[in-house]
Amino acid sequence: MNLETAPDTGANIGPNSGPNSGMARLMQELREGGVADERVLSVIERTPRGLFVPAPFAAKAFDNVALPIGHHQTVSQPLVVARMTQALDVGERMKVLEVGAGSGYQGAILARLCRRLYAIERYAGLLEEAEKRWARLRISNITALHGDGSLGWPEQAPFDRIMVTAAAADMPPVLLEQLAVGGLMVVPVGDGDHDQRLELVRRTGDGVETEDLGPVRFVPLIDGKAEHL
Ligand code: SAH
Repeated sequence: MNLETAPDTGANIGPNSGPNSGMARLMQELREGGVADERVLSVIERTPRGLFVPAPFAAKAFDNVALPIGHHQTVSQPLVVARMTQALDVGERMKVLEVGAGSGYQGAILARLCRRLYAIERYAGLLEEAEKRWARLRISNITALHGDGSLGWPEQAPFDRIMVTAAAADMPPVLLEQLAVGGLMVVPVGDGDHDQRLELVRRTGDGVETEDLGPVRFVPLIDGKAEHL
């Protein structure tokens, strides 16, 4: 019997661990990009982004870039996911709404931070895939709806937190109405590719307070549910 162990090439460690791995590098980039919330960082570290993108892109899952998910939609770059999640300051007892579930990646992260996530997506095909991924990760606190998220989910309102992951032309009043008093919503606002701003909105007793979190680039929020897949 040959008791000699194979030289450690690192090949069996996989891309998900070790100080020089893709994930470690990504974590470093997120910290350098201003993400300091350890709960958010730890959930991102535990959620395999490669599972949420088509196989040819899985190798890029640890790169800080947006990736295509089909239907001309994209999963945001990890730094944007992390910054939006951090800004939302999600607590474990909270009820959260996500508009634009897409691949399900952002939803997986939110669900691991809150009590229950309500996720709306206008493409049935994307939502079906997202639900399979959530099941695979044994995430069972997401209620999903194939529908028009710009209408929110009145039957489930109010929400403690709302995250919109597609750009609204203007701050959507319907969603603001479904936000609990004291609640927070993060939403990209603006027309076109180049002048969108990420807004953090707090609903107060008598109105709203808005904070500008800087420029972003999202696909547009489109009214109505998609009739084809
Ligand atoms: N959060 C997603 C990425 C979002 S891409 C992820 O983690 O992968 C934006 C998504 O918003 C797309 O899937 C798009 O179909 C969806 N979308 C756009 N307008 C919508 C609307 N009115 N209602 C629901 N979903 C919408």
